[in-house]
Amino acid sequence: MTIDNLHHFTQLRAAHPELTDSMLLNSNNSSKFSTKPDVVVAGAGIIGLCYAIQLKNISPHLNIAVYEKSRAPVQKIGESTLSSFSRFTNGAVMPHDYFFRLFGLKDGLQFYCIDREGVEVTSEDIGGLDLSFQLDRRMSELFFTMWAQRIGINVYHGVEVDFEVSDKDQGSSPEFQDTHHFAAPQVKLKNFPKPGGTEVDAKLVCDASGFSRKLTSKFGNKETFDGWNCDAYWAYFKQKEGGKAENRLDHWDYPATKHMCFPEGWGWFIKLISWHHAPLANIMDLVAYIINKAKNGVAAEAIPSIKALSAMFDCPFEFITSIGWAVRNDHKFPENLDEYGDGEGERKFNYFKRRYPTLNKLMNGVYELLPKYYGKQTYFVRKSMAYRSPIVAGEGWFAIGNSAGFTNPLISPGINAGIGTAVLAANLTKEIFDQPPEKARAVMQKCITTYQTYSHDFMIPRLHLMNHYWYNSFRDHRLFEVMVPCFWTLGIDDIDVQYVDEFTEEDVNWVIGVGHDKFVDFSGKVLEILEPSDGLAEMNGVNISESTTANYKELQENMKEMQEVVALEFNSSCSGYMSTSAKICNVRGFLSKNTKSSVDEIYGLISLVTRESEQSQRVLTTESVDLTQPVDMNVYAAKRGMKWDKELQRLNEEYPVVVFSKTNQTYCPYSRKAKQLLQAYQLSPPPKIIEVDLREDAAQLKTVLTRLTRRSTFPNILLRGKTIGGSDDLHALHNANALRDMFLEAGVDVHMDGM
Ligand SMILES: Cc1cc2nc3c(=O)[nH]c(=O)nc-3n(C[C@H](O)[C@H](O)[C@H](O)COP(=O)(O)OP(=O)(O)OC[C@H]3O[C@@H](n4cnc5c(N)ncnc54)[C@H](O)[C@@H]3O)c2cc1C
Repeated sequence: MTIDNLHHFTQLRAAHPELTDSMLLNSNNSSKFSTKPDVVVAGAGIIGLCYAIQLKNISPHLNIAVYEKSRAPVQKIGESTLSSFSRFTNGAVMPHDYFFRLFGLKDGLQFYCIDREGVEVTSEDIGGLDLSFQLDRRMSELFFTMWAQRIGINVYHGVEVDFEVSDKDQGSSPEFQDTHHFAAPQVKLKNFPKPGGTEVDAKLVCDASGFSRKLTSKFGNKETFDGWNCDAYWAYFKQKEGGKAENRLDHWDYPATKHMCFPEGWGWFIKLISWHHAPLANIMDLVAYIINKAKNGVAAEAIPSIKALSAMFDCPFEFITSIGWAVRNDHKFPENLDEYGDGEGERKFNYFKRRYPTLNKLMNGVYELLPKYYGKQTYFVRKSMAYRSPIVAGEGWFAIGNSAGFTNPLISPGINAGIGTAVLAANLTKEIFDQPPEKARAVMQKCITTYQTYSHDFMIPRLHLMNHYWYNSFRDHRLFEVMVPCFWTLGIDDIDVQYVDEFTEEDVNWVIGVGHDKFVDFSGKVLEILEPSDGLAEMNGVNISESTTANYKELQENMKEMQEVVALEFNSSCSGYMSTSAKICNVRGFLSKNTKSSVDEIYGLISLVTRESEQSQRVLTTESVDLTQPVDMNVYAAKRGMKWDKELQRLNEEYPVVVFSKTNQTYCPYSRKAKQLLQAYQLSPPPKIIEVDLREDAAQLKTVLTRLTRRSTFPNILLRGKTIGGSDDLHALHNANALRDMFLEAGVDVHMDGM
């Protein structure tokens, strides 16, 4: 439905004050209520709505109804998203630039590991994984509701769904044994549209009811995993200006999700734009306005700023920070816990904050608590977060998002892995509906197996493994320093290499690194050392820090052994993440050895990108070569008779410093900072800057660079064909007074000593 009146919903509400929130939202549906829709979705959470949108996009003829028990979208936990989410929105909804009128920018993840005394931080900073958003979930659920309605899906708020399950839903009813048909569980709507409720016959249903597991609970209790689980405690804060500079951490103001890691778990700091105080009708007008503009092809940059929109629609917004701890539940709290506050949430939140001076310093005087910001509670608690539903698909149904399972918010898998379940289930739903009737049941059975294997057998266990790996690395900052780089080294290939602007099959299988069998082997070995079968005894009921001290010797041995595993298997691939001093040795070592006659592929790439012709930008896009595998140097030569030994010499002389960069338009402050620092050195020859995002072969360059340098982010700075890292690494080398010597050793003249 297109509404041209800019203030339609506010005027409707003013004219009809008797309209409830759900009536206002439901008035935006374009077709009439049906008791026989093709598909019913229970729950208009983010995952249910994304399933409905994906399905409507690929099967426009289907009649889809989404029922949500809340009267209107409300705030939920789960604000940080990764690039797979922005790729989904970019491809299935609207280009992500429009979303910056609704949500805060998120550019990657930052990790800070607190040392054993809780005083200092060793940081592993991996910002810039690709942009995404920090969501105000009231706004995201409202936006996706209105987008779904706009493309012809009926979304009803204030309607609670129940399911009636019988034998037929497990395919065992005699009635269905020999037929080609399948039947979905019976849907019952409480109090809608008539007071006594209504039975709805859908051909297929999707349980997207989140933690309430409305349908999956009928097929079994939650399964939990052996060993420890995790609990979370969180609250909302306003960041005050100022604060003591010495208490701030590096890059604290960078728009990434910040992870503070400590032995019992980790904490999140997520700064987001909150629309909490905006009245529903006004915010609906604002969202309708943006949807109209996007649908009419008005460029995102032509839409007024958030501030202007807020004034235009009388929708107040503010920046708030979500802060919480996700901690192991085998930690024993002290006897005097009630001295830390009033309820469980407040006590345990304050306990961890005070336990680590770094956290205390970081928060005190800077983050002001927002009491009862989202209703009656100030502090929130969620216990035993990791679980999976034993059955996640059956005759005529799929369960997606949290209804299928959840592990831990670390690295935002809730929404990102959840979108994977939504997209896969929607694609399978299409496959089932596309069949002729005589094949429908057989295809349904096949899809049930595919989905059950994916969600229950593959994804949730892998995410669980990932969390155990990370939580073990938190136990000691030195473990963190070894384990986290290995994780990224393994995972990074999978995250970025083949990804494009839209959500693809690779995203469905995304579980940052843990989708890869290599990771399973490696982490299995690491956890064998760190988490032996009696690992629980070590942790259980014992203060982790004390136990770590008591078992320090053992831990050291474990670390040594683990480092050997790492060294053995990932020796060369981890070099991109070594500490600054290790990196200096590495680069020096490389420079002194760089006399070999066979020429590294990186020089093929440098040769190609330093040619100025437009044609050279098409070499990698038109050649049918698998760029994820070593590429023949003839490809880079592009039909020139190239003597590579001579070419290498020329490149080292003319372009000893090559910077693969991104321009400012693509939000790459790191590239800007790196270029500024290099400029200050006034190098001769000057650095060769390759603005990757302005080239036709941007995606291909990223693939090759990731393979050759083990870095997928930008900038990527090469000194004589060897990466020295990105902006942070460059600054670290500069701060360690090592950069000048490195340039000189590489034959680059330095006319100034940097900033
Ligand atoms: C402490 C914590 C922090 C987290 N942080 C992050 C994060 O930073 N990033 C991230 O990606 N994920 C995070 N998550 C996970 C994230 O919250 C969830 O994975 C995500 O919200 C799942 O979406 P969903 O649509 O499956 O469920 P939900 O968002 O819970 O939606 C389910 C919907 O179904 C409705 N419903 C329930 N029962 C019925 C019924 N009977 N009839 C009709 N409607 C019904 C509910 O009202 C709700 O609107 C976090 C989780 C926790 C616990």
